[in-house]
Amino acid sequence: MRSVPHFINGARVEESGHSPVFNPATGEVIAKVPVPSKSRIDDVVALARTASLSWGRSSLSRRTNILFTLRQLLVEHTDELAALITTEHGKTRTDAKGEIARALENVEYACGLIEHLKGGFSDQVADGVDVHSTREPVGVVAAVTPFNFPIMVPLWMSANALASGNAVILKPSERDPSVSVRLGELLKESGLPDGVFNVLQGDATTVQALLEHPGIDAVSFVGSTPVARHVHEVASAHHKRVQALGGAKNHMVVLPDADLDVAADAAINSGFGSAGERCMAISVVVAVGDVAGPLIDKIATRLDKLRVGPGDDPASDFGPLITQEHLTRVVSYVTSAPDDDITVVRDGTSMASPKGFFMGPSLLDGVRPGTKAYDDEIFGPVLGVARVATFNDAIALVNNNPYGNGVAVFTRDGNAARLFSRQVHVGMIGINVPIPVPIAAYSFGGWKNSLFGHTHIYGPEGFAFYTRAKVITTRWPEASESQIDLGFPTTR
Ligand code: NAD
Repeated sequence: MRSVPHFINGARVEESGHSPVFNPATGEVIAKVPVPSKSRIDDVVALARTASLSWGRSSLSRRTNILFTLRQLLVEHTDELAALITTEHGKTRTDAKGEIARALENVEYACGLIEHLKGGFSDQVADGVDVHSTREPVGVVAAVTPFNFPIMVPLWMSANALASGNAVILKPSERDPSVSVRLGELLKESGLPDGVFNVLQGDATTVQALLEHPGIDAVSFVGSTPVARHVHEVASAHHKRVQALGGAKNHMVVLPDADLDVAADAAINSGFGSAGERCMAISVVVAVGDVAGPLIDKIATRLDKLRVGPGDDPASDFGPLITQEHLTRVVSYVTSAPDDDITVVRDGTSMASPKGFFMGPSLLDGVRPGTKAYDDEIFGPVLGVARVATFNDAIALVNNNPYGNGVAVFTRDGNAARLFSRQVHVGMIGINVPIPVPIAAYSFGGWKNSLFGHTHIYGPEGFAFYTRAKVITTRWPEASESQIDLGFPTTR
C-alpha cells in the first residue's frame, strides 16, 4: 500500500502509513497517511525556524520572482493537479480546475508583495524627528487545512505567509493529502529554499503537537467549527497568534420580486456543486412570501436533470462524498427529516452504495430552527427550504443562526439588497451571487461560529496576520541640540 510522503526540507520523506486515503468514487483505499512522531515534528519545526531566518531576510524581488514562477508552474500543472484532487477528493475535474484557478488568484495577489509589505513614513513629526514603519515576518506558520479544498486553502495561507517572509509547515487533511506534496515540489522548482515550506502529514495529534509547540509562531486553521474553536483556544493558550475558520450554514434569501429561474439555477449551482462539500455552499433557501411553491418546483425540475457520477467522468455534475462515514451521516438528515415534519421533495439516498460514496441530490421543504436538517451543517447534496413571511423574518432567521460565513439575497430591488447587506450578521454577502467567495484582493472570513480570531484569511488581512509591525522613530541631532530633559517626550 502506497504511503503518502511528508515534504520536508525540500524532499519527499517516506514513513509507513496509518490512516486510509480513499478513492471516494470506488470506495477503495488507495494510500495511507503517516502520523509523525514527536521527534519528527520537533525536527521539522527546528529546520523551519532556521530556514525562516534567512528567508525572512530575503529580498522582496527574490520572493516576488519565486511566486511568479510558482504561478506559471501551477498553470502548467493544472491538469495533473486536478486529476490528483479528483482521485482523492472525488470532485469533478472541472470543479478541481476551478479550485486551482481560485488558488492561483491568491498567488497572483501575493506577487504584489512589494506593495502589500510597504510601510509608512511620516516626515518631521516633531522638529528633526521622522517616523517610519515596517512589517516583519512572524517566523514559523502552521497551516492546518480541511479536505474540501486541498490546494486552494493551503494557498490561501501559504502564498501570503511565504510572501511575508515566513516559513510554513502545512498539515493537510489526511483525507486528500497528496496534492500538498506536489505543491511543495512546485515551490521548490520555483526556487523556494529548502525548509521554508514543509508538509507534515498526520492527524489531530499532529495538529495538537503544533498548537502546543514553542517553535510555532502563528496558526492558520480552516475546518469544522468544533475543531476551529479548539484550535483557537489551544493556540491562544500557547501565546500564538491564531485565525481559525470554521463551518457554515449559508442561507440564500429569495425575495418575492426575484427572477425565480435565476434563483433556482443559483440554488442548484451553489447547493449541489462539489456535492455540497463547500464551506460557502448554500444549504438553506429562504423563500419569502409566496415564492416557496413555484421556487421549489423550479429547483426540483432542475434536480431531476443532475447527473451524479465519478469526478473523472465529464458527464458528472457532481461526484461522491469524501468517506462512507460522512455519506452515512448526510443520508441520515434526509431519512430522519419526516420525523421533524419536513417534506422530502427529492430523495437522493437510494443512490448510496458501498462502491463509492455516492448520493443523489435531495431537497427538503420546511426546514426551520430546532430541526436537525436546519441546525447542523450537513455538508452534502441536501438543500433545505425554509419558508418565512417577510423580509424582516428572513433577516431574523439569518441573524439568529449561530454561523455567519456567507449569505445571498436574490432580488431586483436595490434598496432591499442594500438594507439586507447592512442588516445581516454575516461576513460575506452575495447580491444575486450565491457563492460570494471574495477575490484574493479582499479577505475571506465569516462571523460568529464561522471564525475564531480577529483577522480574516488571505488578502490584506492575510498580510497583516503573517507580519508584525515595527515603528521606528528617528532623530539625527546636532550635538549642540542635545540636552538633559526628563519630561515625557512630546511632539509639541
Ligand atoms: P475538520 O475540522 O475535520 O478537519 C480540518 C483539519 O483539522 C484537518 O487537517 C484535520 O486533520 C484537523 N483536525 C481534525 N480534528 C482535529 C482535532 N480534534 N484537533 C486538531 N486538529 C484536528 O474539517 P474537514 O472535515 O476536513 O473539513 C470540512 C469542514 O471545514 C466543514 O465544516 C467546512 O465548513 C469547513 N470549512 C470551512 C471553510 C471556511 O473558510 N470557513 C473553508 C473550507 C472548509
